[in-house]
Formats: sequence, C-alpha cells, structure tokens
Amino acid sequence: MLKTKDILDEKDKRLRLISKEVEFPLTKKDKDLINKMLEYLQNSQIEELAEKYNLRPGMGMSAIQLGVNKRYFVVVNEYDEGKFEKYILINPKIISNSLEQIYVEAGEGCLSVNREVEGIVPRYARVTVEAYDMDGRKINVRAREELAICFQHEIDHLNGILFTDKIDKKNPYKGKDQMRAI
Ligand code: ZN
Repeated sequence: MLKTKDILDEKDKRLRLISKEVEFPLTKKDKDLINKMLEYLQNSQIEELAEKYNLRPGMGMSAIQLGVNKRYFVVVNEYDEGKFEKYILINPKIISNSLEQIYVEAGEGCLSVNREVEGIVPRYARVTVEAYDMDGRKINVRAREELAICFQHEIDHLNGILFTDKIDKKNPYKGKDQMRAI
C-alpha cells in the first residue's frame, strides 16, 4: 500500500524528468503500480482512511511522483458523496481545448508540494485528451472544470512541470480578470 512518504517532494530532481512513452502490453509492475495509485487516491479522499493511514488527500497522481518516469497518470474523482470515478490515462495528449481559461481560486494543490501556494495557474476550462487504456486501446476523454484542471496538471508532471512554475513570480494574480475562478 502506498503511503504519503512514497511520493516525491517538489525538491526532488526526478520530478523534472520528461517521462517516457509507455509500450504495450503493460508490465505487471506498471499494472500493480496503477492499482496502488488508484487505491491511494481513493483512500485519501475518505476521511477516516486518510486519517488512519496518514494520507495527504489528492485527486490525481502521475507515475513520476513515485519516481517512475513513464507517461501515465491516474485520477479519482468523487463526483457524488462516496461515489468515485476513476481514470487511467497512458501516453496522454491534449488534442483540443477551450479558449476559455479558469483557475482554482483557493490555489492549486499537488501531492508533491506540501505547502500552501498562492496565485493563479491558468488552465483551459475544457479539454479533450487522447490516451490509451491499460489494454492499449485508444480512448478519448473530455473533461471540464476541476477534472480538466486535474488532467492538465498531471500532463504537466509528465513533462517535468510543476504547477508552481506557472504562477507569475512578480504578480501571482496576473491575468485574474481574463479568467474565471472556480
Ligand atoms: Zn501534482
């Protein structure tokens, strides 16, 4: 079972690697890791389990955050009280996006960034991502609002980018009027 301490901290240089394309069929190691990542995220969103296992809550996790530089990430989204939908995206690519941009008003978060970070991270309000599932089948996933932000955040991880990089250093609230807060 994954623990919070297994997740690389922002200072770890491995988070700056460009993750490599995944070849199919997936190895058993990758399949096991994907299942552990899903398990972590779901447990972390259930308060009593998060407390019991001391898990930092998260919605998305990329393999590189565990030191595995392969292009995949998973997302667990609680769409209704106690109901979770899971996404596994391998070799993902954004194939279209809205012109509209949004940002998380409370500030974006990351399992690798263990501190509050103020400022605007500009994200597309809607994206369509092309990726592969665990069986190597091509899939198209459309996402909006929080889920769209999560996908963009995770794809950035695969390219060695952290959300903190995207905040204007001099003016963390730059562009506020051109974007919608969520
Ligand atoms: Zn992150």
